[in-house]
Amino acid sequence: MSADYLPPTVLALKDILPDEPLLMMGAGPVPIPPAVAHANSVVINHLGATMSTIITQVKAMARYVFQTRSNWVLGVAGPGSAAMEMALSNLVWPNSKVLCVVNGFFSARMAEMSTRLGADVVRLDVTNHQAATLEAVEAALALHRPQCLTIVQGETSNTVFNRELPAIAKAAKRYGCLVIVDAVCTLSTMPLQMDAWEIDAVITGGQKGLSSIPGVSLIAFSDQAWARIGQRTDRNTHWCLDAKLAENFWHKGSYHYTAPVSGVLALHEALRLVCAETLPVRFERHARCSRALQESIEASGLTLFAEPASRLNSVVGIVVPAELDNAKVCAQISERYHVEISGSFGLPMVRIGQMGEQCRAHNLFRTVHALGSAMRDLGVKVDLPRGMATLEESLQRQRAA
Ligand SMILES: *Cc1c(COP(=O)(O)O)cnc(C)c1O
Repeated sequence: MSADYLPPTVLALKDILPDEPLLMMGAGPVPIPPAVAHANSVVINHLGATMSTIITQVKAMARYVFQTRSNWVLGVAGPGSAAMEMALSNLVWPNSKVLCVVNGFFSARMAEMSTRLGADVVRLDVTNHQAATLEAVEAALALHRPQCLTIVQGETSNTVFNRELPAIAKAAKRYGCLVIVDAVCTLSTMPLQMDAWEIDAVITGGQKGLSSIPGVSLIAFSDQAWARIGQRTDRNTHWCLDAKLAENFWHKGSYHYTAPVSGVLALHEALRLVCAETLPVRFERHARCSRALQESIEASGLTLFAEPASRLNSVVGIVVPAELDNAKVCAQISERYHVEISGSFGLPMVRIGQMGEQCRAHNLFRTVHALGSAMRDLGVKVDLPRGMATLEESLQRQRAA
């Protein structure tokens, strides 16, 4: 037997993982609550009665989180991008006209997927890390008359928040256009009302706002979107992502593919915790924590990346001084302070997430301290005591308010 085919010598996980888990404060995945972690360790029959109850409850809870009465809620075995591809591949086909509002890396992915599906894609590029305006989108709708519009609620890559999404979605409907929204980063961190805003497809992932594990996602289609899927004459070339086949498992108690049962159980627990907290309380927690984080970072002398008018709460971007490399900051804060944060796709900033379990006071204190210390280690002038004091003051003030 050749040495190439002998078992390799590898390390056990315990010898690879750090003794103390790193605090996951980047742009996802985020820390998961113990109930989610426990659920993720359980395997059950994917087609049994227990699973049927789980699925019924996941759909009911997801409807609350999406704020929809639509029946067409489905789980997806795959990352947020798989949910994105499921939305697009079911609603967009060769020669469909699609208007893609592009604010950054993730919204550009929807344009890329639409292009690969053979659609006639019109890109509306919003430059300089600004939010999309109703005027610009409405003008593009009037000019191009698309069948579908894609837009991201929170552009994680450059921390831009499309705050005019409700008005933009309504405008699209006036032009008879279906609205597809990427809410991977934002769902359950800030208001999104699928029905009231007349959105036709909302996608999310597990590992961000919902504080579940990566790799199991959710999608919701409106009745109008479901009707478009039903009227389709050619077949979706993505078999796994075919919504009509997925309906077998998620609505008819039969088989499509073996669902990632542990991940669905984890998602169930994550959703249950959202429902127990309630959306208004959860939104307030996210707003309060993110604001305190932003104020403390500015008080310590660092600069936030996005302008207030287009700034996202769910992921906070911090400018990295020109002489310093993003990767150096991320490495220093990880190795020395055991906090993970994210770089960004080529932009001069690092990003701290404020999604789900990241929005807890104890995580903020540790993160602000770690970021300030790491920056100081690397020679950046920061007033860390002032940053820490501001974090405390801001949390107190907002609690009192
Ligand atoms: C993270 C993210 C995605 C992609 O999710 P994956 O699980 O990495 O595929 C898409 N859109 C937004 C806004 C995101 O933040």
